[in-house]
Amino acid sequence: MVHAIAQDAISIRFKYFVWEGKIMKVIIVGGVAGGASCAARLRRLDEKAQIIMVERGPYVSYANCGLPYHIGGVIEKESSLLVASEATFREQFAIDCRTRCEAIKISPKDKTVDLRNVATGEVTTESYDKLVLSPGAPSVRPPLPGIDLPGIFEVRTVPDARAVREWLEKGSLFLAGMHRYSGFQTVRPKTRAVVIGGGFIGLETAENLVHRGFDVTLVEMLDQILAPIDQEMARIVEGYVERHGIRLALNDGVAGFKQGANGTVDVLTKSGKTYPADIVILALGVRPDTALAKSAGLEIGKRGGIRVDEHMRTSNPDIFAVGDAVEVKDFVTGEWSLIALAGPANRQGRIAADVIAGRESRFRGSQGTSIIGFFGGAAAWTGASEKTLKKLGNSDYEKVYLYPNSHAGYYPGAKPIAMKIIFRKSDGRLLGAQALGEDNVDKRISALAMAIQMGATVYDLEEAELCYAPQFGSAKDPVNFAGMVAADVLRGDMPISHWDSADNALLLDVREPVELAVESAPGVVNIPLGQLRARLGELPRDREIRVICRSGQRAYYATRVLLQKGFKARNLAGGMLSRTHADTFWEG
Ligand SMILES: Cc1cc2nc3c(=O)[nH]c(=O)nc-3n(C[C@H](O)[C@H](O)[C@H](O)COP(=O)(O)OP(=O)(O)OC[C@H]3O[C@@H](n4cnc5c(N)ncnc54)[C@H](O)[C@@H]3O)c2cc1C
Repeated sequence: MVHAIAQDAISIRFKYFVWEGKIMKVIIVGGVAGGASCAARLRRLDEKAQIIMVERGPYVSYANCGLPYHIGGVIEKESSLLVASEATFREQFAIDCRTRCEAIKISPKDKTVDLRNVATGEVTTESYDKLVLSPGAPSVRPPLPGIDLPGIFEVRTVPDARAVREWLEKGSLFLAGMHRYSGFQTVRPKTRAVVIGGGFIGLETAENLVHRGFDVTLVEMLDQILAPIDQEMARIVEGYVERHGIRLALNDGVAGFKQGANGTVDVLTKSGKTYPADIVILALGVRPDTALAKSAGLEIGKRGGIRVDEHMRTSNPDIFAVGDAVEVKDFVTGEWSLIALAGPANRQGRIAADVIAGRESRFRGSQGTSIIGFFGGAAAWTGASEKTLKKLGNSDYEKVYLYPNSHAGYYPGAKPIAMKIIFRKSDGRLLGAQALGEDNVDKRISALAMAIQMGATVYDLEEAELCYAPQFGSAKDPVNFAGMVAADVLRGDMPISHWDSADNALLLDVREPVELAVESAPGVVNIPLGQLRARLGELPRDREIRVICRSGQRAYYATRVLLQKGFKARNLAGGMLSRTHADTFWEG
């Protein structure tokens, strides 16, 4: 009822605009990241336009990125997730915002959309001059046996998170007192959770369940979590989250679910294992919502998203699409890709509004710049991974690993950051970066993301002037350092090799013997850096020498000595840390 009155008030307001002259009528489907930013931007650019924003769910503009933290209790109040309400859109932006209103059909020829009131089922038809689709990407929900059992949840919307919280708080009924021949039902707290999928939603939810005291198993079909990063970097994250209480079951897909005892669910995996759970979280990834677009005959790309041009226009010039539902050009590789991230969705919404309002805005493509936090640590990445380049058959790249401190080592609290930098061999252009650590990982990847977007090379990183005081960074910031290491490689000052390069080089470890006692590669010759100049006679001149240390830094100094003394030497990039990342990195 309240809704109906509000709708009337809006119609009156819009009638007023109609009397002003030529009015553009824009309908926006989807009222969260892409849709809401498009609506608000369009209003800022065009005070006269009639803007209708329809949202199938009960809320607009909510923070889905905060949902795992609401489940964990970090964000205690559900209302904190509601960034702007239907009323905000009406009152501040004069947008006809309709929740529980679903767009069910587009007729491109007539330029109309059929809208269904979710509560009443009533269908109305609205005409449009321009239509914007931002329907997002629902969670993948395969038709597995038992998938609809109670206790199995997704984390995509506010009602999803509410349902999870209610389920967790309810405890589970179980039979007790059987020894007295008088079984009675009682309630015990829920304690075991199985999360399916090791992407960022799965991992964030798993972390939050650990914080709530759950025994958490994360089942992942791939042989690593966080699929966008390279495996050796993912190994570091895996070691870290396991140490903080998440049990990982990699290389194992879920096969189905069975009702267990006392309201529990048994998660059955393809390898034949059974994981009993009081709650199951499905986080198997997302798939672009293209139902409306398909029914309107819009072009769908080969990755399954709505195909748009750089102005976010679909194959129909009066229909735009933004956000998780569209395919975008990968900024680095130029390939079409699906990027389900809030930043691109918001920017695309804004660009679509600009274009509708007659401006020349263009979307540059996406680099997939992302970050995820877990137990005080973080992993962030931008641009192309090595595995993506390999998949594309691109061999014009080189990689370096480095482990700088997050700020000056002498200032308390410095933590190592593990970085992998990927750049073009032919011209030094930065292609991708991945970083993990417990302090200020985000600002390094953000700087590198900007560098990629500006077409920077590793030589530019060497020269980047970044802010520095000891508690924030180093005079040679990790970003500079990354450029210096990579540029040393390209200039030939530091030839490198990798653990997977197959050759019969001599392995020279320049660490101290006590370090080798803890861990060393098989067959190495050990000459500590401090003794190297005196013991050069022990090394062959006709054979390549691969120099190892813990992180690559001492090996670099040794490589420089050897090269200048006429030896054929290469630094083994990243040293022992890049070989055994998972176990040793976080101990610093
Ligand atoms: C739990 C979770 C955590 C996340 N964390 C992060 C993060 O930390 N960082 C990050 O960058 N991204 C994160 N994301 C991804 C980010 O939220 C999305 O990329 C972004 O919201 C996409 O915006 P969108 O507008 O395309 O879709 P959405 O924000 O999903 O909005 C689409 C809306 O359209 C509505 N809709 C669909 N079809 C219709 C229809 N026919 N009629 C009416 N309404 C319709 C849907 O109900 C939905 O509300 C997270 C997502 C989730 C679910």
